[in-house]
Amino acid sequence: MPEQSPSGQPLSLPPLTEVVLATRNEGKRVELEALLTATLPGTVRVRSAAELDLPDVVEDGITFAENALLKARAAARLTGLPALADDSGLAVDVLGGAPGIFSARWSGTHGDDAANNALLLAQLADVREEHRGAAFVCAAAFVHPDGSELVCHGRFAGTLLSAPRGENGFGYDPLFLPAGGERTAAELDPEEKNRVSHRALAFRELAAELRRAVRG
Ligand code: IMP
Repeated sequence: MPEQSPSGQPLSLPPLTEVVLATRNEGKRVELEALLTATLPGTVRVRSAAELDLPDVVEDGITFAENALLKARAAARLTGLPALADDSGLAVDVLGGAPGIFSARWSGTHGDDAANNALLLAQLADVREEHRGAAFVCAAAFVHPDGSELVCHGRFAGTLLSAPRGENGFGYDPLFLPAGGERTAAELDPEEKNRVSHRALAFRELAAELRRAVRG
C-alpha cells in the first residue's frame, strides 16, 4: 500500500505533463519518462536534476521513504514542478536490515562498491547459505508543489553469494542472487534487471497510483 499525505485524503491531481526526477542519472530519467508516458494520459516530459542544475540534498532521513521525500520535496520547491525521487539499498536479513540506508557507504567511503562488497562478504563469512537472505528495497516518492505527497515501495528478494559473479550492474549486484534465479543481478542484462528490480516495482506502483489520482 502506498503511503499518502498526512491529510489521508486520496490524491486528486491536475494532468501531469512535465515533472522533475531528482537524480542526475540519465538512464533512470529515460526509463521514468517511458513509464509515465505509458501509464498516464498524454505525454509526460521528465526533466532531470542535471538538466535543471539542482543541488544535492543532504539525505539525513532514517528511512528510504524519508530520504526519497527529502529529495522530491527539494526538487519540487526549487523548480515549481511535480517531482519524483527514489532512495534504495540492500537489506540483509541476518544483519537486521543493514546496510539499509547506509548501503552506498557501508565501508565508510561513499560509492566504493568494491570495499562495500568486501566488507559485507567478511561480515557474512560464517553465515550458512540458508541464512543469507536479503532484498534490494526502494522507496519512490512523488511531491506536488501543492503539497500532495505519495510514497510507494518495491522489494527485490534474493540471497547473497559468498563470492562475486558478473560484470553488469553496480553496487551489490555481483553478490545478489535473485530468488528463484540462477544468475546474479550482475549477470542479468540491464533490461532484464530493470523489469524486476525494486526500483522498477516502486516506480510502477507509483505511476499506477498517479494514474488513479490524475483528474480527467
Ligand atoms: P541509490 O539510492 O539508488 O543511490 O542506492 C544506494 C546504494 O544502494 C547504492 O550505492 C548501492 O550500494 C545500493 N543499491 C541500490 N540499488 C541497487 C541495485 O540495484 N544493485 C546493487 N546495489 C544497489
